Amino acid sequence: VRIAVLKERADGETRVALTPETARKFLALGATVAIETEAGRAASYADEAYREAGAEIASATEVVKNADIVMGVQAPEADLLEGARQGALVLAIFDPFSRRDRVEQFAARGFEAMAMEFMPRITRAQSMDVLSSQSNLAGYKAVLSAANEYGRAFPMMMTAAGTVQAAKVFVMGVGVAGLQAIATAKRLGAQVSATDVRSATREQIQSLGAKPIFVENVAGIEGEGSGGYATEMSEEYRKAQAELVSSHIAKQDIVITTALIPGKPAPRLISDAQIATMKPGSVIFDLAVVQGGNVEGSVPDQTVTKHGVKLVGYANTATHLAADASALYSRNLYNFLSAFWDKDAGKPVFDEEIGNAVRLTQGGKVVNERLAG
Ligand code: NAD
Repeated sequence: VRIAVLKERADGETRVALTPETARKFLALGATVAIETEAGRAASYADEAYREAGAEIASATEVVKNADIVMGVQAPEADLLEGARQGALVLAIFDPFSRRDRVEQFAARGFEAMAMEFMPRITRAQSMDVLSSQSNLAGYKAVLSAANEYGRAFPMMMTAAGTVQAAKVFVMGVGVAGLQAIATAKRLGAQVSATDVRSATREQIQSLGAKPIFVENVAGIEGEGSGGYATEMSEEYRKAQAELVSSHIAKQDIVITTALIPGKPAPRLISDAQIATMKPGSVIFDLAVVQGGNVEGSVPDQTVTKHGVKLVGYANTATHLAADASALYSRNLYNFLSAFWDKDAGKPVFDEEIGNAVRLTQGGKVVNERLAG
């Protein structure tokens, strides 16, 4: 089979779906690998490194010609895939709910679109999960960016000139990104606390040496829904949470928000009035800024100052660590394809559980049940 990798076209996208390391691995499976000129440049992977690995470097048109598998970070537009084989597999992040039109185009052209963000959250698919690999890096980068905007130090320092107090960091939402944010803030020497709606996170917070801050005594709450994701909370819970957050964030220097609910806008966790209670010079990093924002007034890729507090959030946090984000993303794709590689067929043959979860289009139709109706 011929694997094709294009340079990313989306604004600000610095990642690449293949690294020289994974190119070698795909070649070892018996595939041929072609990658567009300078596709890895923004992620610090030079054409030369791909060539040494054994990949072909060519123009987009040449790369795509007769491709059986096309890999991208963000899905390419269907027009770009002119010349790929009928029924070619396209692996990428498809954003299918907001780009339904693109899914339809892939179906119409007979491609088999595989949305990597639909990877099921089961143990055996962990190594294939691009949301986790990218969120982990995003959680780390959020803390570094916040630290960079903060006009004070993170660790306590006892110097000849006097003592510098440790920064107080509060992490809201303790999924993959939040856990890494806690760990990173701890490593930098901050005093860390964290909260989530899923009670299972309490122990995880403690195991990282941070303090759990939880809404207590609200009847009938269990914030965990299907697949380990959060659900939307009751009015009563939200009120109790708002009160708890108000009293807590007034004492914080840095807040990192990561809360998401699948298929819904991000929950609003911090209001403008709450920001006003924070000390001037405090920093809030909103990792959910693109999904609607956990923080009132945050704007993607801008530092907004409200009541002396800086609000920060990137449109695409993982792109700020493009080399590692690409390396992990690319390994996710390799782990996915190689797990299903059929030696006799010389190509991947997917099982139902994982194949049906990620496949968006096949045989000219939209086939994913999450896109039904
Ligand atoms: P996510 O990105 O969907 O959400 C981030 C966090 O925000 C979650 O912990 C969520 O509970 C929290 N949240 C939502 N609403 C909130 C609110 N109002 N207030 C405070 N917090 C709120 O989550 P995620 O990072 O994708 O991870 C969710 C869970 O899935 C984790 O337990 C993770 O370990 C698990 N997971 C399992 C696998 C696997 O087994 N393959 C892969 C990835 C994640």
